Amino acid sequence: MTDTRDKIVNIDAAGDIILVVGPEKLRLRVRSLFLKAASKLSGTILGPYWKEGHDILGTGLPVEIVLPEENATALRCICAILHHQIKLLPQIMAVNDVLRVAVTANKFGVVDALTFASQFWLYPLNRGANDLIVLAAAASLFKNAQAFRDITKALVLNYGDSYLALLSEDIMPILGERVFCLLEEQRGFARLKLGEILIKGINALACVHRCGWTSKYAFAYMKLLEAQDLWPTSLFVVAEAIERANMMPDPIPEESSAQCRYGYKHFVPEYRKSFRYGLDDLTSRIGICLHCFHSNQAGPAFCQTAHEHQNLPDQY
Ligand SMILES: [Zn+2]
Ligand SMILES: [Zn+2]
Repeated sequence: MTDTRDKIVNIDAAGDIILVVGPEKLRLRVRSLFLKAASKLSGTILGPYWKEGHDILGTGLPVEIVLPEENATALRCICAILHHQIKLLPQIMAVNDVLRVAVTANKFGVVDALTFASQFWLYPLNRGANDLIVLAAAASLFKNAQAFRDITKALVLNYGDSYLALLSEDIMPILGERVFCLLEEQRGFARLKLGEILIKGINALACVHRCGWTSKYAFAYMKLLEAQDLWPTSLFVVAEAIERANMMPDPIPEESSAQCRYGYKHFVPEYRKSFRYGLDDLTSRIGICLHCFHSNQAGPAFCQTAHEHQNLPDQY
């Protein structure tokens, strides 16, 4: 561990407080007014007994408040944001640091003040499942319903393995086991629905005359689904299967059909176009609602009433 006891990070060089944080004793010079103004709790970062005027103690020197149990990286980030010192934030935040900030902010009642900054940290793009579940826990603490939905959506659509492999001691107290049931339920729904959309393509064309054109195309289509790993039992990673469906060529029957006087009506259906509505509808429904997750302990994986997926109000 680096010894930082002589180093002061001047978040506010004229601050009246020095927070001495964590076992490494990182010293953060801050202004008590900013910390108090941001918190919704009486027991703020300054402690429950802090009073205005007891800060300077007549010495003109800042007062030290020792917080040995807190995480130094998290409190440094939080104080930087509360003092509008965005340049003191790391350019890239590791997901575990995002979670530490969320835990600390939640404990000190300053979550609302971090809403804007946390939106950048919670962005799920190009994240693996192990990172996503940590971000989901952070989004839950930040009460960011849109981020929670986007992150859990990525976990449902982009991940094909067991959710139990993502269990960890850090996230269990925050999300509990229930989140894994909901993710599994949504992924099961997504796989079934995708299978249904693809299988429906068999009936996408019909000539009612006995020319055999319909059945030969339907057979070619079924063979194509198998060849493209789009058979219902092959849809492990939903987003990858959707990608394969969007790239799928048109089926080509192996045998030609009999002469048909309505042959001029034999149009090959636009399979990819016909999938589009169903696939868009499917993906728009995926993602766990933070309102339902926080309020309904035994609820289903999808909202029963419409919810705006924005930040949760304070009562959650
Ligand atoms: Zn026909
Ligand atoms: Zn809901």
